[in-house]
Amino acid sequence: MAYNEAFDIPLNFLKGVGEARAKLFGSELEIHTFRDLLYNFPFRHIDRSRFYHISELTNDAPMLQIAGRFIGFSEEGEGAKQRLTGTFSDGRQVMQCVWFRNIKSIREMYRTGVDYVIFGKPTYYYGYYSMAHPEVEVYDPQKPPSGWRGVYNLTETLRKRGVTSRLMQTLVANLFENRRLAVLDEVLPAEIVSAYRLMPLREALYAMHFPSDAVQLQRATERMKFEELFYIELHILRYARQRNLSIQGHVFGRIGRYFNDFYANQIPFELTGAQKRVLREIRGDMRTGRQMNRLLQGDVGSGKTMVAFMTMLMAADNGFQAVLMAPTEILATQHYASLESWCAPLGLEVRLLTGSTGAAARREIDEGLRSGAVNFVVGTHALLEDRVTFARLGLAVIDEQHRFGVVQRARIWAKNTTPPHVLVMTATPIPRTLAMTVYGDLEVSVIDELPPGRKPVETMLRYSDNRMSVNRLVAQQLREGRQIYFVYPLIRENEKLNLQSLEEGYRVVCDTFRNIPVSFVHGQMKPDEKDHQMQLFVTGQTRIMVATTVIEVGVNVPNASVMVIENAERFGLSQLHQLRGRVGRGADKSYCILMSKANMAATTRKRLTIMTETTDGFLISEADMRLRGPGDMEGTQQSGLAFSLKVADLARDGQILARAREAARQVLDAAPQLYRGGVVPETGNCAGVPTLTPESLGILERELRYRFAHKVDWSQIS
Ligand code: ADP
Ligand code: MG
Repeated sequence: MAYNEAFDIPLNFLKGVGEARAKLFGSELEIHTFRDLLYNFPFRHIDRSRFYHISELTNDAPMLQIAGRFIGFSEEGEGAKQRLTGTFSDGRQVMQCVWFRNIKSIREMYRTGVDYVIFGKPTYYYGYYSMAHPEVEVYDPQKPPSGWRGVYNLTETLRKRGVTSRLMQTLVANLFENRRLAVLDEVLPAEIVSAYRLMPLREALYAMHFPSDAVQLQRATERMKFEELFYIELHILRYARQRNLSIQGHVFGRIGRYFNDFYANQIPFELTGAQKRVLREIRGDMRTGRQMNRLLQGDVGSGKTMVAFMTMLMAADNGFQAVLMAPTEILATQHYASLESWCAPLGLEVRLLTGSTGAAARREIDEGLRSGAVNFVVGTHALLEDRVTFARLGLAVIDEQHRFGVVQRARIWAKNTTPPHVLVMTATPIPRTLAMTVYGDLEVSVIDELPPGRKPVETMLRYSDNRMSVNRLVAQQLREGRQIYFVYPLIRENEKLNLQSLEEGYRVVCDTFRNIPVSFVHGQMKPDEKDHQMQLFVTGQTRIMVATTVIEVGVNVPNASVMVIENAERFGLSQLHQLRGRVGRGADKSYCILMSKANMAATTRKRLTIMTETTDGFLISEADMRLRGPGDMEGTQQSGLAFSLKVADLARDGQILARAREAARQVLDAAPQLYRGGVVPETGNCAGVPTLTPESLGILERELRYRFAHKVDWSQIS
């Protein structure tokens, strides 16, 4: 038989599944074949490995089984109120089984004097334990307690058609009895299974459905997670390598006059150790002739701009131009101001290009970029327009990248025949595990150290009763000359409500702090007006800013010392962290006040409490991912988690992911034809995995095809 032919057998060939049921499974659960059913794992398991005694029951007992006999039945009530009670004895004590439906057939099915096993969740009720609608089967002394059983995801439609977890168990059991599944070929290369000590496929699949104990279930789960992550990583890395093969990078061989001059004479502060390390990592990439694709993660205020600028200097030293792209006009303007002051003494030309650049200035910039007279350009999306062309673009730095989609990044690539090196910067720290998967083969650098002298922002959780004391703190900070933010959440479903609550907040703030000039900013404003209001605050002409989250990204006002976040429970943790990063940028003590309702869900309180306990962006993002799941993470929405995971969980399975990724790398080292396409391999040989056998190669190719044939290949443009 060919490789796992049984996998592809349509479900209606399985004992217990007819045409109709096969259709139903297809439309409801996407289960079409034997393989689909095998890989449809229970979402939890229940313990049928032993019989309980009634005396052992407690109020919070899980679903469990008890062996014994019915000693009597009684029916009560009429019509809809009808119910059937069976008194059940385990030989020592009694409990009750209760049915509200199908009473007639149940009454006929179960008899006194017969040994049964009942299974269900016991609850304590009027002096007795009872089980509502228990599963009941005849006790078979030949058949010992049956280990653990799976509970399966089912839809409402399936339930209505009589499909239960019990039926799923039976069908899966039938499947394992099918002689065509007696032998299953591995879907992982044998070399990997043994090098990583994985449970073999057939054993693991069986244990996923019918584990004999917790340890076995754990090992099986690990194997299935590994398998899932291994193929995702293999897929991503394969394309990344293909890309690296076909794309030559510019070689930035030297550190020259611009960099050295700046570093020796101009740099306004000593670089932190982390900034230096990251610059070394970047330099390491750019001198190789490979195209750099690096993600730079660094908490707000960690000094990413300086790293970006010094990277741009390396480009200039090698005769290349560079762009710095920011998501908002304000941010671009701020970057431009810094770069301009650093560039002037070096004799480098830098320009600002945004949507509001005038036509004449724009022509001058376009011309300068095309001729090469302009070295650097800072700007917004306007940089992506086709009319912007370069003489020698060598580097693109993209700030706060989560604001940009994959497609936009791809357009930067196209600005030169040899694509520029790309440095993507983000202050939304994404857990490493997620970064590796979301960004494919992007290398990751981390600035994990803040410049010296920063005082951590004091974060407090406050309720509406505390409004007076919050206002006192704000007033006192205003007296000391500081500036204040009040931020309101966006209520996604209701724009009108947004504006209402924001306007209301604005009025209250103006009333409370009389004679203090206030800026007012929200997303529905015209860009000019928004920029004007922002600028008033940046220059200190207004002292309070009332805003929605439009201020989240990048604004730098070192004099701001208080961030009040209204309805903080509506924000994600990473977003709160970003907002908090707007204060604490100067030398003064700063505060972040999370305003919230007193009565909130326990998980919400937990989330907000994390904010008061740590200022470490990585800890926060990991907590956020655990609490909300990776799909909802900020920073991944635009870039999109391209794969839905069935068994693995990126928040918890970082270790397995790292191993799976390592295995994928080894496989690609050993079998470059997986990405070279058709090229005859040199026999690869590497540490963990020896040369792959032809069988193993066949498995890899088939599995990649099976798993990713229909998926969009996004990794090529990341
Ligand atoms: P972010 O990483 O959030 O973009 P910035 O680049 O805006 O941070 O830097 C925040 C502030 O810290 C800026 O005012 C910058 O000049 C300052 N800064 C950056 N690096 C250092 C350093 N090594 N020592 C002192 N101040 C620094
Ligand atoms: Mg920044």
